[in-house]
Amino acid sequence: MASPDVPTRTPRTVDEHQAVVAALIPPAPVQDVPLTQAAGLVLAADLTAPIALPPFDNSAMDGYAVRAADVAGATEEAPVELPVATDIPAGRTDVPTLEPGTAHRIMTGAPLPPGADAVVQVELTDGGVDRVRIRRAPAPGTHVRTAGEDVPAGAVVLTAGTVLGAPQIALAAAVGSATLPVRRPPHVLVLSTGSELVAPGTPLRPGQIYESNGPMLAAAVQDAGGRAELLRFVPDDVAQFRQVLSERVAGGVDLVLTSGGVSAGAYEVVKDALTGRGVEFVRVAMQPGGPQGAGRLEIDGGVGIVTLPGNPVSSQVSFEVFVRPALRAALGHPHPHRPVVKATLGEPMSSPAGKRQFRRGVLDAVDGTVREVGSPASHLLGALARADCLIVLPEDVTSAEAGDPVDVWLLDG
Ligand code: AMP
Ligand code: MG
Repeated sequence: MASPDVPTRTPRTVDEHQAVVAALIPPAPVQDVPLTQAAGLVLAADLTAPIALPPFDNSAMDGYAVRAADVAGATEEAPVELPVATDIPAGRTDVPTLEPGTAHRIMTGAPLPPGADAVVQVELTDGGVDRVRIRRAPAPGTHVRTAGEDVPAGAVVLTAGTVLGAPQIALAAAVGSATLPVRRPPHVLVLSTGSELVAPGTPLRPGQIYESNGPMLAAAVQDAGGRAELLRFVPDDVAQFRQVLSERVAGGVDLVLTSGGVSAGAYEVVKDALTGRGVEFVRVAMQPGGPQGAGRLEIDGGVGIVTLPGNPVSSQVSFEVFVRPALRAALGHPHPHRPVVKATLGEPMSSPAGKRQFRRGVLDAVDGTVREVGSPASHLLGALARADCLIVLPEDVTSAEAGDPVDVWLLDG
């Protein structure tokens, strides 16, 4: 491998650069967060239920708790009448025993009284308050939710690596957890470079374009589970770029993500500012996204930095290939990569030898055919925004025919 200061001559493979970037983002520290802040995060330790679910036998219906044997003969024509000894609303904690030959009026979720073995739903009775006429004989166990039938006490209910969505958060609450241990989302600074860039919402002069990589990468970081901080973008000025880094990279920043200024032209601000300062600039054998850089800034103990190319499609695809899986791995996702499915090419394609090509595609989920949107050109943001997948053409493929099988990364999975 080349020294950090000398550009490598043979391109780095995609897998090698993935490993370099992944090493810059170590597993995030674990912290306990309240359930209201846990959505979308990854559980860092197995969760064991200290109680059973349901915690106690309870009624699945509004009706009457009975001994099934007491009402065994009840029919429409010959109802059985029982005295109603007490009411058991949900939440009652002092539940008396059901004496033989009596009923308790009971509500959904209320504890089944000792002695009762069935609930008759109110619709099968006259709804009586002092005495009740029951028109159907329930089998023992009818409309009873048994303690532990959902979750036994002591069971592992959520395993480390589980992504916390609404049902998982509900389960944690139901077994009594107020907080959950999760990995802290990595704090990522996003910094765009380019003297042609203008903030959206302000007038454009000829030769200028609106800055779009910053909002794009900040959104991509958030979507990957990180915490993005979008810095003001800087022109192609080495001093300004270095100044923003030294001012803003401090305390708690886990990664800096830049775009632009890393390819082969003049005025490559990121490359010019960081070459020889802990960041290695390389060519990766992929398209788009060949020019890449990664390393550690000589600031604040060596904060990781990934320098993405400026073309919007290159930037976003590079994020998908290198940064997103590294961020998700740091968060503890068991499957940090996008789901990959086999699809059928809907049209012929050519691809450069020796490079892994990522084409923007739309997958027909019904017939499994994938077609390109736009072209391989890396400035086509409109096409990128319409794509729902990346079509992967491996390094050794130079042409593929309609009908050929291809790997496709699903971007919305
Ligand atoms: P660069 O990598 O800086 O040479 O930029 C390559 C191309 O991407 C040029 O056409 C730039 O204008 C464009 N570009 C770079 N940065 C951005 C950005 N933040 N937003 C939109 N386009 C950009
Ligand atoms: Mg630029």
